[in-house]
Amino acid sequence: MPEMRRDPITKSWVIIATERARRPETQLIDGDSLNEGTPHDPGCFFCSGNEYTTPPEVMAYRKEESLPDKPGWSLRVVPNKYAALNMDGNFKPSNSNKGLKVSGYATGMAEVIIETDHHSKNIALFTDEETYAVLKSYRDRYLVLSQENAIEYITIFRNNGKEAGATLIHPHSQVLAIPIIPTNVQNEIIGAKEHYDQTLSCIYCDIIENEIKEKKRIVYETDNFIAFAPYWSRIPFETWVAPKFHSARYEVLSNSQLEELAQVWKAVLHKIYVGLDNPPYNYYIHTAPVHESPDKYYHWHMELIPKLTMAAGFELATGMFINIAIPEDCAEFLREIPVR
Ligand SMILES: [Zn+2]
Ligand SMILES: [Zn+2]
Ligand SMILES: [Zn+2]
Repeated sequence: MPEMRRDPITKSWVIIATERARRPETQLIDGDSLNEGTPHDPGCFFCSGNEYTTPPEVMAYRKEESLPDKPGWSLRVVPNKYAALNMDGNFKPSNSNKGLKVSGYATGMAEVIIETDHHSKNIALFTDEETYAVLKSYRDRYLVLSQENAIEYITIFRNNGKEAGATLIHPHSQVLAIPIIPTNVQNEIIGAKEHYDQTLSCIYCDIIENEIKEKKRIVYETDNFIAFAPYWSRIPFETWVAPKFHSARYEVLSNSQLEELAQVWKAVLHKIYVGLDNPPYNYYIHTAPVHESPDKYYHWHMELIPKLTMAAGFELATGMFINIAIPEDCAEFLREIPVR
């Protein structure tokens, strides 16, 4: 039976096209013979030994005796050379022609997190420590960039694979600090506030409680974190990770919480890699805006969106999605893939 399901937060509808849906059938990659690829490419800007080809680093996890912008690092953060934003001007939007032309200076900062000195290791094959370092660097950069008054939102995201927008092989994430709150986040905040006003509870906490009760859409969980396929998944194998405890802000995670999160995140990336043969995907963190305080009713989470289908006319026309896989089947498939 084809079905329409509604995102309880943003109220967007999704069509779950079960007529076209098949149970996922993919050939599992043999988890023990995974190829990490070539460790070093002398022509790569991000490889060790080529530090001089990037702007000076703004942060690095490196061996104590090593020097900035020299080898000896395990993770390195540099400004994005090709950034569309900078801090040279003030956003201050001006409004002319009765609001038909609103514009402001593109104030902001863009950074690249070079996640490892290994040139081509897939993030799904990172060790526990490497995964932890990536998640920790997200928090650490957030804390630094949020000190800038002009910044309203900090987006942390990762493109995996050419089809998902990754232009360089070398493993990296991106951080974009911008002077506005993006619409997708604003819509989640509005929906969460509405729910809070009506029920005095956080809609994300309610969703997670329900997932734990129903069990059908859980991909992986620990004491404090859960990975699940949302009931209203827009895309096959869309996977969310969130804390089971209420928290609006990723950046307040402690080191020990980050360690536990790394266990969950690594499990999710590994299951997606093995189960779907390293598909292209994007993931990002949705956390509360820097200055606005929806802390009582917003709840940070990570969304991983595989790129298995192409957005087409219907999505562009409506903002709605047609999902050709049933979220419960996707969750079951991923749940059953053993964690390395
Ligand atoms: Zn490289
Ligand atoms: Zn909550
Ligand atoms: Zn979200």
